[in-house]
Amino acid sequence: MSNEKIPYKIYLKENEMPKEWYNLRADMKKKPAPLLNPETGKPMTAEELSRVFCEELVKQELNETDRFIAIPDEIHEFYKMYRPSPLIRAYFLEKKLGTPAKIYYKFEGNNTSGSHKLNSAIAQAYYAKKQGLKGVTTETGAGQWGTALSMSCSYFDLDCKVFMVKGSYQLKPFRREVMRTYGASVTPSPSETTEVGRKILSELPDTTGSLGCAISEAVEAATTQEGYRYVLGSVLAQVLLHQSIIGMETKIAMDKYDIKPDIIIGCAGGGSNLGGLISPFMGEKLRGEADYRFIAVEPASCPSLTRGVYAYDYCDTGKVCPLQKMYTLGSGFIPASNHAGGLRYHGMSSVLSELYDQGYMEAVSVEQTEVFRAAVDFARVEGILPAPESSHAIKAAIDEALRCKETGEEKTILFGLTGTGYFDMFAYERFNNGEMSDYIPTDEELQKSISTLPKFD
Ligand SMILES: *Cc1c(COP(=O)(O)O)cnc(C)c1O
Repeated sequence: MSNEKIPYKIYLKENEMPKEWYNLRADMKKKPAPLLNPETGKPMTAEELSRVFCEELVKQELNETDRFIAIPDEIHEFYKMYRPSPLIRAYFLEKKLGTPAKIYYKFEGNNTSGSHKLNSAIAQAYYAKKQGLKGVTTETGAGQWGTALSMSCSYFDLDCKVFMVKGSYQLKPFRREVMRTYGASVTPSPSETTEVGRKILSELPDTTGSLGCAISEAVEAATTQEGYRYVLGSVLAQVLLHQSIIGMETKIAMDKYDIKPDIIIGCAGGGSNLGGLISPFMGEKLRGEADYRFIAVEPASCPSLTRGVYAYDYCDTGKVCPLQKMYTLGSGFIPASNHAGGLRYHGMSSVLSELYDQGYMEAVSVEQTEVFRAAVDFARVEGILPAPESSHAIKAAIDEALRCKETGEEKTILFGLTGTGYFDMFAYERFNNGEMSDYIPTDEELQKSISTLPKFD
């Protein structure tokens, strides 16, 4: 196959789709630090975690030894509705850049929710249903996760309660309506419906909310209602596990055509798409079978890997979730109000944090105006209108390709195109009007939120 021209789109057949998820932690010699109980400072037990999360997902969260975990048939069937997702050779972008580099991207936006989040949402809804629960609660920021979860819950006939960051609830009415169309109830957060919401509102009546605050409300709603559990769309190890489907499909497709990436790039919010994309490749690197460069790309306005500290921190503003050791800016960190590119979470997956700390992965931060410039350049030649989050990866891939142009190296670059940007047109509007600005927090500002970290090391 290697002498054939590589097609624009490499689609796997249905029967070539992976039947198992790959658990990267099994190949890590030094494992990520355990989740801690914020009250006792001791590792969370399965029993403690089961009060918040579904039982089977708790098992997956704590499983550091099984390399492969079978994808249940019901989930595999659902995956077939929108998977395998295409691996696309960016011939048009290469031509426009005049680079000798070969660029590939794995496109996860081909489903109604518009992003990779559906890969984990359907799995989490399945396990909730299997446990006989009535429903699940969650938070959503920009709305992609809430949309993916609503679709998944309606498929399995589960109730779905979404706490949506108030700012997005007001600014993104279409996402909200997609969720309601799939049967979810959507509450702007902070709300009067939870104790933690009422507390935050009494302190900050005009707040437009934050992800950390919506998480606290969703956890409270799950733990105070019979038959409900909380589900989370990123950050957790179980979510990276489900997202490994992205990397495994990519690896199968690349192997078919003898393509070996030199550089693998992904945007990093909580780390789930990046962790999923790199999983099988990182596994090879950890086992000493192959070498790749991995690059996490984050916004300069929310730089958890590049400027955060590696320590135990709260996952949410209300401090009700387990503590996680991760690269973090402090749970009180909120990006500047002009920030429009998503990826706003203050922390990072503990799996990716540990790999980064051990030097297996690099990280870069990019400013939002250059991210939107890259998004527009990409859209105009490759056709797809990318999500702002995904465009962080596009920007870094373009930078690497231009470096190849200078050096004449024919490197193979792979990046994750996590979703589409149709619901982000206010941000595009600001960019198109020349009204978008950049903001890089000062060391003092970061220090202020970092200084509030709990002492548990
Ligand atoms: C949520 C989201 C991200 C960031 O989340 P990760 O967990 O870091 O992958 C990136 N791109 C899109 C389109 C998203 O919806």
